[in-house]
Amino acid sequence: MSEKGKKEQDEKPLSLNRRNFLKLTGLAAGSVGATAVTGVGRAEAGERPDGAVCDFAVSHIDTPSYDLKPFKDSGKLARFDYRKASFEHEALKKKSFGGATWYEAMADTQVKMANKNVSGYTHLDWALDQAAWTSYNVAYYDDPSNPASLTTWTPFMGPLHPDLKKWEGSPKANNQYIKKAAHFFGAGPTGVATLKEEWFYTHSSYAGNPPIVFSDKHDTPMRTNEACYIPRSMNRVIVMLTPTDGMLLKYTPSATGGLGTSHGYSRMAELAGKMAEFIRMLGYNAIPTVDCASLIVPQAIDAGLGELGRNGLLVNPELGQDFRITTVVTDMPLEADKPIKFGVAEFCKTCKKCATLCPSKSISMDDEPSYKVACPSNNPGMKKYYVNTWSCLEFWVSSGGGCSNCIAVCPYSKPGTWIHDIVKAVSSKTTAFNRAFVKMDDVLGYGQTLEKHSDPFEWWRSEGRPKTWPKKF
Ligand code: SF4
Ligand code: SF4
Repeated sequence: MSEKGKKEQDEKPLSLNRRNFLKLTGLAAGSVGATAVTGVGRAEAGERPDGAVCDFAVSHIDTPSYDLKPFKDSGKLARFDYRKASFEHEALKKKSFGGATWYEAMADTQVKMANKNVSGYTHLDWALDQAAWTSYNVAYYDDPSNPASLTTWTPFMGPLHPDLKKWEGSPKANNQYIKKAAHFFGAGPTGVATLKEEWFYTHSSYAGNPPIVFSDKHDTPMRTNEACYIPRSMNRVIVMLTPTDGMLLKYTPSATGGLGTSHGYSRMAELAGKMAEFIRMLGYNAIPTVDCASLIVPQAIDAGLGELGRNGLLVNPELGQDFRITTVVTDMPLEADKPIKFGVAEFCKTCKKCATLCPSKSISMDDEPSYKVACPSNNPGMKKYYVNTWSCLEFWVSSGGGCSNCIAVCPYSKPGTWIHDIVKAVSSKTTAFNRAFVKMDDVLGYGQTLEKHSDPFEWWRSEGRPKTWPKKF
């Protein structure tokens, strides 16, 4: 090649196709093993290679990842009292919301902004957001004595049919059938965990915060205004992720950006209610606990659905953080799934994007997890990244539309392009490229999502359908 031609070629911008990306990062030399690279070999830019991430990046392990380095001492956590959560804490109500609940205070901000027709907070957004909560509100504020409640602890349409025997499948087969049913009802990735009492609240988030009691004296679950009894024979938790419409994330924080959250919560309640009925019809006990009775992130980790992220949320290999979590407790014989690991804890050490782009600076910027709690709603004792849920909630109220910035900017939540699949695959095998990957995420514009979309009302004008869910769970 002539000198001129060589110079022209050197000056030509490098298009970011798969081959150039691999050259840039040095991965073409096979530095992380052939499977990590060839696993995405069929994919072109912008396409999701079927099952690429899940097939080669995830290791099944015996110890839940919250008990592996850099985390420590999960066993020192006491059962959490939901009355201390920022959503319920009396001191936070008095300090910041004039005695009102956070939800009332946030709704007030929303109404004021709707009256001013602010983009992202219009009357349309307010009405859709309120409507989207309907199923969850019905479940959350229900009367436990009402057998027609969506998430009742007692059978809704009746238990096993008198002419049918109890279903008897093997625990392994039942695990498959349960997942099939969950996907039929609209769940994304689904797993089964062995129930650990330590993850259950001492006092639930149901109205009046009745205590959760594990009982050897009860054969069936019982929920009253005084207490919620879970028979000790109910030793499995089905954990389901409900994917949200990822397109809405780019409008966070705003009421439009919060629509995925509100509708996601309603779908959680519907999903758990239907799954509990399905299991009862097979002759077993089931409680659609949704997220009212226990910490759902550690149970999702136990059920093999992901790892703990710096922002305290679950990171799933397929969906990143773009989902809600719902649970059903049961005594149906079910094989438990194994926890997984795919490099999130190490990636979080370098990444810090959620912390950097958190508008209230509520997420730790520390290089390593620590025992340092960040607010009175944290449960102390474990070495991890603590999140200041008080300043987070205060921001939600002042912004009037909740916030999902930390979910939106997480590199694992990004659309299923081959670039991000390679990042996930490689970071599951080595930490060597993590710093470069974080930079690359910024260069590709994903780090600026929030600033780039300053007119959320464009969502109302757009004609596109919601992002379709991944084909493979
Ligand atoms: S939800 Fe928003 S305010 Fe709260 S931690 Fe995440 S980014 Fe920060
Ligand atoms: S944004 Fe980065 S640091 Fe935060 S949870 Fe996601 S990977 Fe971890």
